[in-house]
Amino acid sequence: MSQYDVIVIGSGIGGLSAALTVARAGKSVLVLEAERQFGGFINPFARKKFWFDTGIHYVGEMGEGRSLYRQFENLGLLDDLEFRELNPQGFDRYVFPDYEIRLGNSLDDFHHQLSRDFPSEQNALNKFFKRFKEIDRSLRDLQKRKGLWATISLLPKIPLLLRYKGYTYKQLLDQYFVDPRLKAALSGPGGDIGLPPGSAAALVMIGIIAHFSRGAYYPIGGSKKVRDTYVEHLEKNGATLKRRSPVEFIALKDGKATGVRTKTGENYQAPVVISNASALHTLRDMVGYSELPKRPVEKMRRSRYSIGSVCVFVGTSQQPNEFGLDDANIWNYPSYDIDSLYRPVLEGRQMEEMAFFLTVPTLKDPHANHAPQGKHTVELITFAPWKAFEPWNDQPVLKRDADYMKLKNEVGQRLLGAAEKYLPGLEARAEVIEISSPLTNSSFANTPDGSIYGMDHIPSQIGSGRWGTRSPIEGLLLCGADSMGGGIAPCVTSGTAAGELAIHMLKKR
Ligand SMILES: Cc1cc2nc3c(=O)[nH]c(=O)nc-3n(C[C@H](O)[C@H](O)[C@H](O)COP(=O)(O)OP(=O)(O)OC[C@H]3O[C@@H](n4cnc5c(N)ncnc54)[C@H](O)[C@@H]3O)c2cc1C
Repeated sequence: MSQYDVIVIGSGIGGLSAALTVARAGKSVLVLEAERQFGGFINPFARKKFWFDTGIHYVGEMGEGRSLYRQFENLGLLDDLEFRELNPQGFDRYVFPDYEIRLGNSLDDFHHQLSRDFPSEQNALNKFFKRFKEIDRSLRDLQKRKGLWATISLLPKIPLLLRYKGYTYKQLLDQYFVDPRLKAALSGPGGDIGLPPGSAAALVMIGIIAHFSRGAYYPIGGSKKVRDTYVEHLEKNGATLKRRSPVEFIALKDGKATGVRTKTGENYQAPVVISNASALHTLRDMVGYSELPKRPVEKMRRSRYSIGSVCVFVGTSQQPNEFGLDDANIWNYPSYDIDSLYRPVLEGRQMEEMAFFLTVPTLKDPHANHAPQGKHTVELITFAPWKAFEPWNDQPVLKRDADYMKLKNEVGQRLLGAAEKYLPGLEARAEVIEISSPLTNSSFANTPDGSIYGMDHIPSQIGSGRWGTRSPIEGLLLCGADSMGGGIAPCVTSGTAAGELAIHMLKKR
């Protein structure tokens, strides 16, 4: 069969959510994935009986009735997919040279801890958190809006959002606080978008802290279970899924999308095509700038993509709880000046002082099969520049030369060395060590410049600065990190919204 109601390009969580929305409405849907496995950043991998997650370490809003919970529920997934709440007293540890604070499932607790530790800033903290909550409420109302009247009722709140839309987080923090240590403590979660306070959009930082401050959760069975549950439900609902099917171009007739052609030579037709690939790859490579009006081309050319990563995946017999680790993630910052930690990477050089993320999936989900009995997986992430790895981009995946391996291993070794602060003997006790680079992200998820969070979350690239679900081409919709934002929750939201829009467009035909 080559004719479908909807074709979805890419099977990241955004594409899977779009396809499942369409399939559950009884429409025929074809998912085309370029890679050998479905899932994009939620595709796990295995080494010697150890399973590793790539792009899910925690999500917020999974308490019963919360926004991400409702979306999974509406997709019919929650009979088969369960999430475990991480330490409510502190699932994120922000560790600085001589200070540490945890974020748990209460914003008020976070506020109180900071007031205790920075008493001279108490009044400023009260004012900041009051404003924080107002912004959070407005952002949530904006997400909930459906229809004209709801949007109009929101208008009185919009000035608040408009006021801060152009702010970096640093600009917001500087309006309230003096102590650089306090500003750093409030910037700890910035790693979730890979940006320091001087670049991150203030509204996104507030959105992230608020997202997690209602509790953090981990999928039981890891990203593998999430990916497999989506695929099973898609198949049960009659969807067709094809791997190793990279889409080469989107066919257009009279300026409208009519189908796709794969690099392997297959043609498929559908009145609606949803792309879960990056906006850059979709609009520049699969549509072609010559088919687009001038403004979207300029917008695309101006776009800046997020940072790349080096990750070290360790399978070990070491017992992380013996060193005081629990299911909390660690964000390690060797300086309070987070902007200067990121600066080399944002300028295309390696990080000088190693800021990194450390997580132990086997402590978050002790009963799943991440590791053989009694063993653990440890995952380390640091940020790394595309430029340093780009010279090897044209070499075949998994067969890159010795110089590439040397560079990748050097960064990986530095990261392992830095993590010994929390897990002494980590490298010596490792049974498996696998290192990824920005080229891995580019090769396995086709992200521009090995970016891990889609288009950067800087003030000019949030809200209308992103793409939303409508592309400049009729019949072509977008979902995933470039649509509404990077991270699991925004990608599920954009996928579901693109799927609903596709159903609406089919009804109108
Ligand atoms: C190391 C890391 C840690 C992260 N941790 C978290 C976390 O703890 N919590 C959280 O919320 N988020 C986290 N994220 C972010 C989150 O994983 C991503 O934002 C999200 O998974 C991206 O989903 P997506 O829908 O944009 O699709 P992607 O995962 O980017 O997948 C896109 C898919 O499209 C396919 N594709 C591209 N081009 C084509 C083509 N031409 N033809 C066919 N298929 C194509 C790709 O192969 C890929 O499978 C993390 C990301 C990384 C990398």
